[in-house]
Formats: sequence, structure tokens, C-alpha cells
Amino acid sequence: MLWKVTEKDQLVKMLSVSSNEKQNSLAKEADSVRKRFVGDKIYFRGIIEFSNICEKDCLYCGIRKSNSNVTRFMMTEQDIMKCARWAFANGYGSIVLQSGESTSPAFLDFLIKVVQDIKKETGRTDPRGNGLGITLCVGEQKKKTYEEFFQAGAHRYLLRIETSNPELYKQLHPPECSFGNRVRCLEHLREIGYQVGTGVMIGLPGQTIEDLVDDIFFYKDIDADMIGMGPYIPHAETPLSVYAGKWNARRDELLRLSLRMVAATRLLLKDVNIAATTAMQVLHPRGREIAFEYGANIIMPILTPTRFRKDYSLYDGKPCIDENAKQCKECIAERIRSIGRNVGWNDFGDSPHFHTRVGK
Ligand code: SAH
Ligand code: SF4
Repeated sequence: MLWKVTEKDQLVKMLSVSSNEKQNSLAKEADSVRKRFVGDKIYFRGIIEFSNICEKDCLYCGIRKSNSNVTRFMMTEQDIMKCARWAFANGYGSIVLQSGESTSPAFLDFLIKVVQDIKKETGRTDPRGNGLGITLCVGEQKKKTYEEFFQAGAHRYLLRIETSNPELYKQLHPPECSFGNRVRCLEHLREIGYQVGTGVMIGLPGQTIEDLVDDIFFYKDIDADMIGMGPYIPHAETPLSVYAGKWNARRDELLRLSLRMVAATRLLLKDVNIAATTAMQVLHPRGREIAFEYGANIIMPILTPTRFRKDYSLYDGKPCIDENAKQCKECIAERIRSIGRNVGWNDFGDSPHFHTRVGK
């Protein structure tokens, strides 16, 4: 069967399939579109979760500011540099610097300096002069701040819209959070010249299949270059975990639905980068590898020093918290070999969509 994905009702049907046969045919088609538009390589973005200090109170997130059980940390520049150096020496084309959201000038100045120093040091030893690619994922900031990050050397930014349904967004966030501002931030990032990534959580309480279809059209409308989405997973110390009982009952279906979202996004967007996110692995030990068979081509191995990992728990059951960067690299490279794909070492691995859209 050939899936057509230009119409909303076709996508609703696709995301609603329940037979194994249809699920598998969807994977097959998404996989062949992936092969044609972005190739066989899987690119590593080593993620450094450098601070869990957050000014926000998103109702789903384990490190929200009102969770007083969290031991707050902020890595030093030296610690971050060590991770970045390791990533570069180990052939990772790029890293992601992710943290809770802070708009304090001290935090922003710190991050700008870290980005500059990583680019300076790795650029010097890279024969191509590019150094390590840097993606930032530090939430909503002023346009001027995004410009400063960009000038410092960051070239990609991840900001999930979380859900494209403004009503649902309102229910998941405290009143001071604005859906409109989140969209504006994405527009600013794009205007500045970033490769822009967004995404949603799948299986949020109150979310419908139609919402998920709208999410995929949202990606298309804002012309995203990169997509990172994964299942919503409850964290016991958050207000949204009152729905955890219901959530548990549909874990298996949630994995299948998350995979269908990856496939449908690949079929509609074609030449973007799509991550097999860590949250997929919470639902299945091979969750990330399976996502590679549904159209994903990016993975974010964790580089955060082991001693900080347990304190960066956005959701319960986060995998790999006792491992170190070397173990994560070897484990993931082996998993990729096991499915017959290969790693794009020493390469930014930009989304072809970005180069097409900026005409390079
Ligand atoms: N503070 C930044 C970046 C860190 S949070 C920001 O919010 O953009 C990174 C992502 O983690 C969020 O975008 C959200 O989609 C995801 N996340 C948070 N809590 C989660 C949960 N309980 N289950 C699954 N994903 C979650
Ligand atoms: Fe903070 Fe991001 Fe978690 Fe929201 S999702 S509470 S902004 S870390």
C-alpha cells in the first residue's frame, strides 16, 4: 500500500492504524523515503545536560522550579570543555548543550563564553576549520540573546513547541507561559539563520490524534529543519503524574504511536533530520533502534558526567544514568551496526532541508 500524506484525514488514518501489517508497511515506506532523502548514515549529537536550574514550572517536567526534591547543579566551564573535547576527539560532529531555562545575565554570559571557547579550541585543531558543531537547547530567550549565541558560534537551536494545540499548551503550563511567545521564538531563530529544530511530546493527557496530525503540519508550516519528539513519560514529582495510572495501561500502544509519528513526519517532511530520542528507550530497550527503522537518522548519546545524570531527570526511568560517555558511545555504535547502518563520524550531518532552504 502506498501511503499518501498530503491531507489531514490521511494522516489521521495513518496515525490510527492498529494492525501489525499496516504498522510495518508504514515503517517500510518511511524507511525508503529516509534512505532517498537523507541517506543511510546516522549522526551523533553528544548531549551535555549542563544545568538543571530552571525558572519555569512546566507541569510535566521533573526539574520544574517547584520540585524541591531536585539537587540543583550547574557544570563548570572546565567540566563542559572536558565533555566537548572528548566528543571532538571521538569523532562526534556536534554536541547539544541543554539545560533548564534561565534568563539571568550571569547564565547567558557564561553560555556565550562556553560556546566561544569550544569553537575556538576545536576549530584550531580541525583541518576543515569548522570545529565542533554546537546546538543549543536552553528554552525561550530574547531575540538579542539568540543573536549573541549565534555570533558566539552556535549554529543550531532546539525548541520544542511541546504541542501545537494552544489550548492543550495552556493546560500543561502555568499562566505566565505563552504559546504565542514560543512560536515567536522559533520565528526569531529562523530569521537569525539557525538550523531550527522543534518537536512535541506524544501521548500527553488530553492530546488527540488530530492534535498530533496538526503537530506534523505545524513542523511543515514553520519549515523546521530538525525534529526531536518522543513519548511523554510521567515524573512522579510533577502535577501531571496524576494521570500516570492511565499512562501505564497504554505503554505498548504509546511506543507504536510514537513510531508512527516518526514515520508520518518522515513521509510528510522528507529531507529533515529526525532524532531517535532517549525517551523512546524508556518504553522499549531497543526503542531508539526501532525508531531508526521508522525514518529517524539522528541520535543524541549522553555526554553528561555520570555524577550529574540522576539529577537531570525530566521523566522517570531515564536510561543510561549509571553509564559514562565512553560506554554510551560504544553501546550506541554497536546498536547501529546491529541494524546494518553506519555512523557519520566527524561530520556536522546537517539536515539537507536547511541547505535547500537557504540555497546552499
Ligand atoms: N528547558 C528547555 C530544554 C530542556 S527540557 C526547554 O524546555 O526547552 C527538553 C525537553 O524535555 C522539553 O522540550 C520537553 O519536550 C521534554 N520533557 C520534559 N519533561 C518531559 C516528560 N515528562 N516526558 C517526556 N519529555 C519531557
Ligand atoms: Fe524547565 Fe524545560 Fe523542564 Fe520546562 S521543560 S520545566 S523549561 S527544563
